[in-house]
Amino acid sequence: MAKKPKRVLVTGAAGFIGSHLCDALLAKGYAVTGVDNLLTGAADNLSAARESPLFVFQEADVVEPLDHDVSVIYHLASPASPVDYLEMPVGTMLANSLGTLNCLELARSLEARMVLASTSEVYGDPEVSPQGEGYFGHVNPTGPRSCYDESKRFAEALCMAYRREHDSEVVIVRIFNTYGRRMRPDDGRVIPNFVSQALAGAPLTVYGDGGQTRSFCHVDDMVKGLLLAMETPEAAGEIINIGNPNEMRVIDLAALVKQRTGSDSPLEFEPLPQDDPRQRRPDITRAMSLLGWAPRVGIEEGLDDVIEYVRGLSP
Ligand code: NAD
Ligand code: UDP
Repeated sequence: MAKKPKRVLVTGAAGFIGSHLCDALLAKGYAVTGVDNLLTGAADNLSAARESPLFVFQEADVVEPLDHDVSVIYHLASPASPVDYLEMPVGTMLANSLGTLNCLELARSLEARMVLASTSEVYGDPEVSPQGEGYFGHVNPTGPRSCYDESKRFAEALCMAYRREHDSEVVIVRIFNTYGRRMRPDDGRVIPNFVSQALAGAPLTVYGDGGQTRSFCHVDDMVKGLLLAMETPEAAGEIINIGNPNEMRVIDLAALVKQRTGSDSPLEFEPLPQDDPRQRRPDITRAMSLLGWAPRVGIEEGLDDVIEYVRGLSP
């Protein structure tokens, strides 16, 4: 009799990264259970996954206890765009606190590995660059972004508490800015904003003077890193940055989007949001040595992918 495929639970499955992760897991022969309450994700993101007989979807909130028979759990359920989490600060904190607790309890009862989707936001507005996993961060604990930053920091601390007290097999992945197809064009993050503005001939909204930096990782590279975090035995108990160290200024990104779309949209300068980090760049030494991972997709190629996607959405 053929061996039953390993079943993987993905919370936040209908979201941008979650839906790509489901597709990649199914392509590798895993069975996948996706859970999502469709707060910031969309059922349409799962149309490819739904074609597989190995895919099951449950519309549910991770704040409620989870009950699934799986071998691995990925916890991605949480609003991720600043625009989204500023609108839903309490829900964001609950997804990352109670939601993480529910995932850890399920993982403990099943002796399953749990991969936490954490974030570079745990470094806050960093005083060192690049940011290595040993850096403790520089975070405003009560500012507008704290609902996200601090709940992700709590989620990380809870994972490590479960590891110390219950020997749980946790892996913490600190995801740096990721972009690609299936981001909502209106989700407020900089790449979907600039691309939709450029394609509409509208001004590109640059916050502050645009001198702040980010390092953008294409979702295909991110998903490969997430798969390795699950499949690499030595990753248990580790904290691993996954991102593309190719740091750039937001104003240079605006110029590049204009160039790749052929747009002559002007730039419109708007106030910098409170606590917006000035700089962000991952040190990926650990991901390279432990997982054998490195990003492959360059920003030009990655932007072209998003531009094609957003063009395809226009009526
Ligand atoms: P997204 O908003 O597209 O996806 C998040 C998904 O979680 C959505 O489908 C949403 O409906 C779901 N969700 C939210 N709260 C939920 C709840 N209580 N119960 C069930 N489902 C819930 O965002 P994304 O960019 O795909 O981010 C996925 C994960 O990766 C998040 O945990 C985020 O913090 C992390 N992350 C993303 C980035 C990035 O640049 N995209 C960077 C750092 C970390
Ligand atoms: N940003 C911008 N214009 C926009 C959206 C964002 O200049 O229309 C800036 C934002 O202030 C930040 C950077 O782009 O400095 C990345 O923002 P995003 O929301 O994508 O992610 P963050 O890294 O802040 O979570």
